[in-house]
Amino acid sequence: MVPVSDCDAMIDSASTTDPAVAVLIAWFSDQGADFPWRQSRDRYAVLVAEVQLQSTQVARVVPYFERWMARWPTVDTLANAPLAEVLSAWQGLGYPRRARNLHRAAQMICTEGWPPADRLTDLPGVGPYTAAALRCFADEEPVLPIDVNVARVLARRFPDGWPGTPDGDGWTIGQALMDVGREWCTQRAPRCGSGCPLRDGCVAAESGHPELLAPTRRRQSAFAGSMRQRRGVLMRAMTSDGSVPIVQDIDAAVSLVADGLAREDGDLLRLPVD
Ligand code: SF4
Repeated sequence: MVPVSDCDAMIDSASTTDPAVAVLIAWFSDQGADFPWRQSRDRYAVLVAEVQLQSTQVARVVPYFERWMARWPTVDTLANAPLAEVLSAWQGLGYPRRARNLHRAAQMICTEGWPPADRLTDLPGVGPYTAAALRCFADEEPVLPIDVNVARVLARRFPDGWPGTPDGDGWTIGQALMDVGREWCTQRAPRCGSGCPLRDGCVAAESGHPELLAPTRRRQSAFAGSMRQRRGVLMRAMTSDGSVPIVQDIDAAVSLVADGLAREDGDLLRLPVD
């Protein structure tokens, strides 16, 4: 057993004969969701998908990912794109700092190459979870990325520890656990009786109150009136109109300039040049 803990990834090299793991692999092979990024093992494509998926729902990401990959299919095409175009293409996904970091990461990769596997977090915007996702979903290493959805499934269905992944099935297990966490094992209202592939033998489901068994998660502060919302208003205006008066929201403008997401041009705020 690999202990389940509050972490971003686990080295998943303990093989197993646990029937629940075999069921999960068979279920995914037959019914796993077919997202466009799952058709690729290219590190760049996986990086784009994982960054876009941070804090954004899957259904919303799909069309953005497809447009992005059609426009910038390789890491060097993104690295050579003007930052203003990159930020415009990101408009609507939220948290534009992710686009800025992705652009910087592409430039770093073009200049220095990909960092070694244990230093992927050197890339801007790549934390321990995203690094683990690159190793699992692109390189197919035996590393299980653990986001909040996967952590919840592990805590409920495998409270004694993850039994381990059969050799060569790490990619499938990583994706399958994401699907279960997103579609069935939700935070507040898990749908145990609606076809969850891990229902057999799930002690949390049998307790009658699986929702009580879940890692705590940080509450997100209210969006209305937040700095995030105010920055979004300025980003939308710059994308659609080319500029926005700084006096419209000086604090939000200063914050965007400090993050490299905008530049001052006299009394106006514009998207950055590079
Ligand atoms: S049966 Fe319920 S608690 Fe168990 S893994 Fe599935 S959705 Fe989660």
